[in-house]
Amino acid sequence: MTRQAKQSAPPADDSTGVPHILTFDVEEYFQVEAAADGGTRPEQWDSFEKRLAPCVERILRLLSDHGASATFFVLGWVARHERDVVRMIAKAGHEIASHGMYHGMLGNLTPEQFRCELLDSRGLLEDISGNPVVGFRAPTFSITHKTAWAIDVLAEAGYKYDSSVFPIRHDRYGVPDAPRFAHRAVGPGGGEILEIPPLTLRAMGMNWPVGGGGYLRLLPVWFVVKALKKAEKSKHAGMIYLHPWELDPDQPVLPMSRLARWRHRVNLERTEQKLQRMMRDFKFLGVSQSMHTLTTNAKQTYSYGSPGQS
Ligand SMILES: [Zn+2]
Repeated sequence: MTRQAKQSAPPADDSTGVPHILTFDVEEYFQVEAAADGGTRPEQWDSFEKRLAPCVERILRLLSDHGASATFFVLGWVARHERDVVRMIAKAGHEIASHGMYHGMLGNLTPEQFRCELLDSRGLLEDISGNPVVGFRAPTFSITHKTAWAIDVLAEAGYKYDSSVFPIRHDRYGVPDAPRFAHRAVGPGGGEILEIPPLTLRAMGMNWPVGGGGYLRLLPVWFVVKALKKAEKSKHAGMIYLHPWELDPDQPVLPMSRLARWRHRVNLERTEQKLQRMMRDFKFLGVSQSMHTLTTNAKQTYSYGSPGQS
């Protein structure tokens, strides 16, 4: 069966057929923020065992088996040091987008440094993939009210969409009152971009994180399925995010705090099973393939530049 034919197959359940969005942040296990907090520095990255390529290969096989497509937000460092990973993803027909260069949270960068990371990572990724790069995700969802200047920088650099805001309350990131689905984000300088937040569930007057990483690994799969169905009922695409290292329970243990280690490793051995279940029950596409619907449905505009907020 051709890839195209697989993608047009109807979903396996009674869903309304709204395609959801599947994304992967393509970085090594030693590049996560928790490892940086534990003392692992970018200067040391080259000395660690690289484990990304086989994980990405496995993900590409799973996507192909289920006729799904995805967007891969690739770290510039990975593009520079593991070019074959980018080639492999592009060759399989999936969208490549940027995850910055060195995985620094935006609060630790100046607007000028951020602009350079956007241009450098895009240049590398476009060179290798041969396709335009129009999307960005900040490391650790680090666009907040404090770093809203990044929206202006993204718009000015010509990016078409961003997926860096988690509309929840969290100790390190989050904009709890931001819209839960795709919307127009406006920066303090008036720059505008399409913003696509990860899947959340609204309950007890709060937004609860559901759509990826440690949350998705921790929650029972029926809960994630329920959140996706709820999104469908309101005609919205739910956005799921995962990392290739989350399909690698045998990765080395790095120095980090006990809480960070637990967050990083909880249920790693079940990620693949959950991903398969979601792809069995729902139709998933990458962002660019859904761009028309996302843009049409993005009726809300939200200003991130309001001073004095978290
Ligand atoms: Zn990341």
